[in-house]
Amino acid sequence: MVAEIICVGTELLMGNTVNTNAAYMGRRLADLGISLYYQTVVGDNVERLADTVKTALKRSDIIITSGGLGPTEDDLTKETVVEAMGSELIEDVHTRRRIEEFFSRFKGIRNVTVNNWKQAMIPKDGFAIDNDNGTAPGIVVEKDGKRAILLPGPPHEMKAMFEKDVVPYLEKLSTDKLYSKMIKIAGVGESNVETEILDLIDNQTNPTIAPYAKMGEVHLRITAKAASREEGDALIEPMADEIRKRFGRNIYTEDESVNLEDVIVELLTKEHLSIATAESCTGGLIAGRLINVAGASNCLNESYVTYSNEAKERLVGVSHDTLAAHGAVSEETAMEMAAGAAKAAGADVGISSTGIAGPGGGTPEKPVGLVYLGVSYKGQTYVRRLQLRGNRENNRNHTVEFALIFLRDVLLGNV
Ligand code: ATP
Repeated sequence: MVAEIICVGTELLMGNTVNTNAAYMGRRLADLGISLYYQTVVGDNVERLADTVKTALKRSDIIITSGGLGPTEDDLTKETVVEAMGSELIEDVHTRRRIEEFFSRFKGIRNVTVNNWKQAMIPKDGFAIDNDNGTAPGIVVEKDGKRAILLPGPPHEMKAMFEKDVVPYLEKLSTDKLYSKMIKIAGVGESNVETEILDLIDNQTNPTIAPYAKMGEVHLRITAKAASREEGDALIEPMADEIRKRFGRNIYTEDESVNLEDVIVELLTKEHLSIATAESCTGGLIAGRLINVAGASNCLNESYVTYSNEAKERLVGVSHDTLAAHGAVSEETAMEMAAGAAKAAGADVGISSTGIAGPGGGTPEKPVGLVYLGVSYKGQTYVRRLQLRGNRENNRNHTVEFALIFLRDVLLGNV
């Protein structure tokens, strides 16, 4: 089965909105084992959209659109696709009722307009997909062996509908069932991971391995085609074992929904440990990542943003002499910050960051991207030096990621 994505919206063409919907749908179709040969972006223009849809229908079995399902005049996706497929619109009682219900929640704040009823019109050869987060329902059209799935543009609406209804619909259509497992690796560079698994990739048939690089992490998805979950697992497990052997403790989870910060908060909570951060170049982002995790309050009580030298001395007790002799961006300062944060907060673990995020502030000895991380734990303080090469935002975000990896290593005795 070959699918094709069409994203509708002049704002996408103009670069005002980044086409994250296409990236998301592309990834999910790949996960489902559905071939995708084309993605198109087209503005809010009936003729050009109709042309795009007709071309897509000639070369693909199923088209998936996002955007242009709203109630306004320039929202034309539904009318255009339905006409291009030779179907027609009729009012859908269920969808009309859902729109009434949606607006009854906003009584006195938002009223139904005549335009909103346009959204209750559903093609004769198809059905609506409920939208739990907005008024525009999704639509499936099935005509002459071709299929179109129309989804709204707002990413949170589109994704919720894709996961809840589109994935099961597509799974039912495809003859091969796909089962997969995600293995998440932290602290090994993308090219090192790829080199380590080159032989597995070269010899892959069923299952296959696909690496996804994320900042500081590489996620490996093992996917098997099989008739049942059991058969799928039997194909996946030997490959997963091989990967476990090769990456050992750098694997931090095999659960797709778990992030690095989840694992750290779990480690700290299990050991009844508390943590405090002293952050300079990351300005609170490390604490922020930990606080992303529900239950972070079990281990994090307080943290410090110590951006100036004065704050480093006053809040976390870095010595004046250390700062004078080695500077704020130094191994010594990072170590005193980590130990000082733990002491000031009465925590078991302290973690610190100090670095030159850029674009200014670099010198030949201490260039932009130089960062020191400190972790203080069980009476010992460890330090790690990074030399990053991004812009300010990248450098700060990478620092957070590497700080979490370092922290996990220390907690696991991996240093
Ligand atoms: P609505 O019911 O909100 O009018 P719609 O289906 O008509 O939904 P659009 O009006 O095309 O959707 O887009 C609404 C918003 O969704 C856009 O302003 C944009 O912020 C976001 N959006 C649309 N398409 C995309 C896309 N491909 N990727 C990311 N965001 C998108």
